[in-house]
Amino acid sequence: MVKPTDGWKDVPRAGLILDAGNAREYETGGWRALRPLWDEEGCIQCMTCWVYCPDSAIMVEDGEMVGIDLHHCKGCGVCAQVCPKKLDEHKYTKEEGKVIQMAEESAFESVTTRSGPESEE
Ligand code: SF4
Ligand code: SF4
Repeated sequence: MVKPTDGWKDVPRAGLILDAGNAREYETGGWRALRPLWDEEGCIQCMTCWVYCPDSAIMVEDGEMVGIDLHHCKGCGVCAQVCPKKLDEHKYTKEEGKVIQMAEESAFESVTTRSGPESEE
């Protein structure tokens, strides 16, 4: 894999990716304009978001959702669309709506937060 410190001569011809199985190494979360905020207390663990997330960014341990991998989440908002559980007040946005709600990425200093605004990896 080409590293940020490599020169142009280190880039494979035509930009080909020569190493197999390397998707995890590319942190696509930096592209994100919107951040999904997950209210873990309101989550009913239905796993609908996990089924539909196109980036496998819903983090699961022992069959339960434990967060969102913001290193790879591109902020498409599909999880917020498909989440079936509604709340009177979301823990982070303080608004009525889904357990996952989208917020402007520019409101956050870090791109590495896993789920809510306060939790850091
Ligand atoms: S916004 Fe939701 S569905 Fe889209 S990539 Fe991020 S976690 Fe997955
Ligand atoms: S779709 Fe909503 S309620 Fe279901 S696991 Fe995901 S966040 Fe929780």
